[in-house]
Amino acid sequence: MTADYSARIDRARSAMAGVGVDALLLSVGADLPYFTGYDAPQLERLTMAVVLGDGPASLVVPRLEAMKVADVGAIDILPYDETDDPVAIVAGLAGDPRRVAIGDKTWAVFVMALQESMPDAAFGKASDVTAALRAIKDEAEIESLAAAGAASDRVAQRLAQTEFAGRPEKHLASEVRAMCEEEGHDKGWDPIVGSGPNGASPHHGAGDRVIAEGDTVVIDFGGTIGGYHADTTRTFCVGEPSSGVAAAYSVLAEAQQAGVDAALVGTEAQGVDRATRAIIEAAGYGDLFIHRTGHGIGLDIHEDPYVVEGNEQALEPGMAFTVEPGIYKQGEWGMRIEDVVVATDDGPRNLNQSSHELVVVA
Ligand code: ZN
Ligand code: ZN
Ligand code: ZN
Repeated sequence: MTADYSARIDRARSAMAGVGVDALLLSVGADLPYFTGYDAPQLERLTMAVVLGDGPASLVVPRLEAMKVADVGAIDILPYDETDDPVAIVAGLAGDPRRVAIGDKTWAVFVMALQESMPDAAFGKASDVTAALRAIKDEAEIESLAAAGAASDRVAQRLAQTEFAGRPEKHLASEVRAMCEEEGHDKGWDPIVGSGPNGASPHHGAGDRVIAEGDTVVIDFGGTIGGYHADTTRTFCVGEPSSGVAAAYSVLAEAQQAGVDAALVGTEAQGVDRATRAIIEAAGYGDLFIHRTGHGIGLDIHEDPYVVEGNEQALEPGMAFTVEPGIYKQGEWGMRIEDVVVATDDGPRNLNQSSHELVVVA
């Protein structure tokens, strides 16, 4: 199923009208592929889509990159040569805008040059226009997220059969990443493998520590399919868990399920956070749950809507986000369970069906 880029650009124009933006300028970052189908490399040569509120949409691209740009019909592709000035080309296309919205991840060097070329324009950030559109996934996007989630589930099943003890975290991490690609991800990302006390650092990465008998091991892994992310966490235990670990884990599993169940259309995003946190707090582990419950996911691994206290945004059908509570006992162990959930009119759809149990491995 392919995306309807014309429809997306039309929606951007309506959103631009709503916030008084005349020109939307998109460079590197996920907004560009969302509206144009083209994911630009990080280069010192400027790539920029120029979407006018009442005018055409164009993509200014270095000539040597232009053959990688698929013509999706919705946007004019304008290659430029090495001796051209792309900033002047973009400024010329933009005309004389009063308000410009520029991609949040655009390199500062280009932002500054564009501001200099358009001294009368007020610059704001593109996410004011794009974030709300991107937060609601269409059918094709949900299909990609579901395929990415299913590939992660197959990796989780394989991990349950994998030997952990005696291996450095980073060896297991490269194996997990390879498994992601074997199971269907176009590209795996570097997983987190947090063993023993390292598991208590939620974004640990993977290091030289050798996994030992009795460790809990937090593995946070995934990849992308068609640009759409999987982001899954499962927790393993090398040998039987201690009674302390087992007790905390059953609270965590209950909390995570409560978060998934709370992800109903109309519920505020913070309501999902409250659902997980209430259970963890009631069991006395509140101080050990040190991050928000989750984040929106799509072309970016972290995007709107954020599942965090204070986010009163009501969930809408098509919003996709993680539910990933964790409990982290400093110096001893960590545990987290993470699924990607889509809010639908029929209730929460969990894209990760692999076991939520604490998996005992060798
Ligand atoms: Zn994270
Ligand atoms: Zn994750
Ligand atoms: Zn996550």
